[in-house]
Amino acid sequence: MYSLPKLKYGYHELEPYYDALTVEIHYTKHHQAYIDNLNKLLANAPQDFQSMSLETLLLNLENLPSDIATGVRNNAGGHYCHSLFWQQFSPHPATFTGKIAELVVRDFESKENFVDLFSQKAKALFGSGWVWLVLDVDNHLHIVSTSGHNTPLELGYKPLLVIDMWEHAYYLKYQNRKNEWINAFWNLIDWDFINQVLNKLTCK
Ligand code: MN
Repeated sequence: MYSLPKLKYGYHELEPYYDALTVEIHYTKHHQAYIDNLNKLLANAPQDFQSMSLETLLLNLENLPSDIATGVRNNAGGHYCHSLFWQQFSPHPATFTGKIAELVVRDFESKENFVDLFSQKAKALFGSGWVWLVLDVDNHLHIVSTSGHNTPLELGYKPLLVIDMWEHAYYLKYQNRKNEWINAFWNLIDWDFINQVLNKLTCK
């Protein structure tokens, strides 16, 4: 059974960039609903799928019984995407430094260029989805987008950072002003956390 991972901050602590009401609804209603739906679906799935890690489950979607495959894709994906999304934020984010800074400069020339490319991709995403910074098997960085709650795991990438571009993620505060949501997002990214994720992936 999956459960909602604890937040490292209070709902109001990401203000003014991310408002308390959106954080609370997004976390306690939207994210929770994906977890509840996933648990219901898995209750009817073969035992093998019930004991898999979330990541392994998402890499084995094609082996799921057809009556629950789409539901598991959407809801396990929703749980996975939101789990990274919440963890990467901090009210007191660490600065852009360390290994992630080295790799970003190597692969995108500068932080400014990376932020610009990522933000453009987020702006250009049509419909509901996510934009990711990911690592490939050769430890190179890429910016990719996925629709719905599809994850980059299926593409062979490991996620490092992600922005939620579903309207529920920003609409209460930013309405149609997607640009303002994307610009605000960068003020909350804790680069120390991104370095921790990167270290786990590259020290294997
Ligand atoms: Mn969301």
